[in-house]
Amino acid sequence: MAPGFLLFLAICKLIITVGLNVEPTELLQLGGRLSIERSDVESASLDFGMMSRAEPLAVYHPSSADDVARLVRAATGSGRGFTVSARGHGHSINGQAQAAGGVVIKMSGAGPGGESRPAPRVAEEERYVDVWGGELWIDVLRSTLERGLAPKSWTDYLYLSVGGTLSNGGISGQAFNHGPQISNVYELDVVTGKGDILTCSEEKNSQLFHAVLGGLGQFGIITRARIALEPAPQRVRWIRVLYSNFSSFTRDQEYLTSLHGEPASKKFDYVEGFVIVDEGLINNWRSSFFSPLNPVKISSLGTDGGVLYCLEVTKNYDESTVDMVDQEVEYLLKDLDFIPTSVFTTDIPYVDFLDRVHKAELKLRSKNLWEVPHPWLNLFVPRSRIADFDRGVFKGILGDKTSGPILIYPMNKNKWDERSSVVTPEEDVFYLVALLRSATVDGGGDASRRLEYLADQNRRILKFCRDEGIEVKQYLPHYSKQEEWVGHFGEDKWARFHRNKMEFDPKQILSTGQRIFEPDFGSYPNAAQSS
Ligand SMILES: Cc1cc2nc3c(=O)[nH]c(=O)nc-3n(C[C@H](O)[C@H](O)[C@H](O)COP(=O)(O)OP(=O)(O)OC[C@H]3O[C@@H](n4cnc5c(N)ncnc54)[C@H](O)[C@@H]3O)c2cc1C
Repeated sequence: MAPGFLLFLAICKLIITVGLNVEPTELLQLGGRLSIERSDVESASLDFGMMSRAEPLAVYHPSSADDVARLVRAATGSGRGFTVSARGHGHSINGQAQAAGGVVIKMSGAGPGGESRPAPRVAEEERYVDVWGGELWIDVLRSTLERGLAPKSWTDYLYLSVGGTLSNGGISGQAFNHGPQISNVYELDVVTGKGDILTCSEEKNSQLFHAVLGGLGQFGIITRARIALEPAPQRVRWIRVLYSNFSSFTRDQEYLTSLHGEPASKKFDYVEGFVIVDEGLINNWRSSFFSPLNPVKISSLGTDGGVLYCLEVTKNYDESTVDMVDQEVEYLLKDLDFIPTSVFTTDIPYVDFLDRVHKAELKLRSKNLWEVPHPWLNLFVPRSRIADFDRGVFKGILGDKTSGPILIYPMNKNKWDERSSVVTPEEDVFYLVALLRSATVDGGGDASRRLEYLADQNRRILKFCRDEGIEVKQYLPHYSKQEEWVGHFGEDKWARFHRNKMEFDPKQILSTGQRIFEPDFGSYPNAAQSS
């Protein structure tokens, strides 16, 4: 079928289904491509979590910020209206980028005619890069490396979009030092829920700037981000050491992350860690590091309640610092209290380190273990309660099987800007605990891998925290009732979040897959949203 005819059909469908009262020609003038093709609708109905499905009426492929703005204006300015969700790489867990009965804007991937979107523009002198909101971080890295530069703050996995991670936070082992990705952005172009295109920064439209960062897609669609860069190192010394004692492990992690104010030579560049509760996991997709040359037997290490903790650190270097790297690593490790025989070291190019999870992805894909349900739970746990969390969850609720990696590492609250929309615990230091589990549909004969089993464990973990008064905050939060969202934000922050929503997306059409607000189309209260 001719593309023009398909577009016409898509528009007619929108007009009939949601009573859109615009002239078809108005939408035909959109520079992008509105699609009702089955493959587009199907892929926009699901996400990485593979746990919820919601079909949009159509998928829009924009070629520019103007296209995005025109679609948003069509969504709000006419008839009964329809909801609009930006979708980056669709790597959410709980349908956050879906738009049931609305339009999903596909921000990542090729443009409407298969062409690439605005290419990243590196400003070498000023050390920043301007990128399209749907750009994947792997492509940001590739383009900045051409100039010997790289962003400072990362996620562990690079096949995520800039707009998607900036709508949440964007964290990895550099966050203790540089803050999350949202602390490393100078400027944004945003299409608000009213269809205005605004440039915002600390100085200009600052209310919108801070609202959008960590804003869960509620205030506007990021079409351009200006990201801070630093000189890219060439190589990474990557070290893992094991602990059987949780308090030694967290003491050392907190010591290393407290060094953020020190000169580069006196701190690591990356500090993370993970929990190992079962023997199989030590050689899992994130731990392939240990094998096959040096397989580890947990039983040989004298664990505390069957649980081991792995501290993971890196030191970046290049030609000018290569002579110092051994000495600097030795200096930093010498006061730590890990199991002396458990030091595992490797040395790889910087890009390979940053792109490490993709290698694991390819491995899992080859075994059909990537496109499975992912009942992930990410929590920020206050430092003062992390030992209680360890006792109740790692040594309690989880039993002796985890079904996926469990990351744990501390961050410094003063690296997070309180004016952004993201929510963190009220303590100077808090931990990320990321339970990144994969379910198999039938459990593959193993009940502990069933989706329902893992989902129930997640509920028990949250209940345990509530009962014990451990004031965790969800990262990549998922709630379905507004009162739960109010609890998540706390009254003051919720008041600000709500005020910003009224100002920048008063009809509440954006990112309804987050389930924070219901669309409000005035005299057409039941329109569009059916989730
Ligand atoms: C394998 C894997 C590893 C991960 N590792 C990390 C990690 O190390 N650190 C970390 O912080 N997170 C990590 N995440 C979580 C990830 O950062 C978030 O799920 C993020 O939202 C995914 O980006 P995306 O482009 O796929 O977003 P999507 O799922 O497409 O969208 C997420 C939300 O952002 C909104 N949105 C998308 N694009 C825009 C835009 N341009 N403007 C405004 N709103 C927009 C959507 O409407 C939706 O509400 C990981 C996820 C996976 C699957």
